[in-house]
Amino acid sequence: MKGECLCGVVQFTAPESREIGACHCGYCRRWGGGPMLAVHCGAKVQFAGTEHIGVYASSDWAERAFCTRCGTHLYYKLLATGEYFVPAGVFDSSDFELASQIYIDKKPPYYEFANKTPMLTEQQVLAQYGVSGD
Ligand SMILES: [Zn+2]
Ligand SMILES: [Zn+2]
Repeated sequence: MKGECLCGVVQFTAPESREIGACHCGYCRRWGGGPMLAVHCGAKVQFAGTEHIGVYASSDWAERAFCTRCGTHLYYKLLATGEYFVPAGVFDSSDFELASQIYIDKKPPYYEFANKTPMLTEQQVLAQYGVSGD
């Protein structure tokens, strides 16, 4: 699957995947202005135009990257495993399905997705993955 940032200087290729996870945590909402809708792409994502990728260490275990020219959010990456979570909107394809929602207990009341998905609270996420979302 291919994608690129708004201005096109950063392009990438990721393995095929259809499932989107929504994260309602405060870090994702502050970063993006709303919940993050991301595709779990694994560690094998290849980028071109890496000189235009800015990286922000958002916690001891993860970093968030963006295009330094146009500001497009490129990924959330878990440092321990090298796994990328890439916002669904930066892919050329829109053949995705909202499969899960995490940090549902951190979601503010002003929006709600109509999609029927499993929903995990922060506690359940920590129990399942052993890491925090920020
Ligand atoms: Zn750009
Ligand atoms: Zn989050």
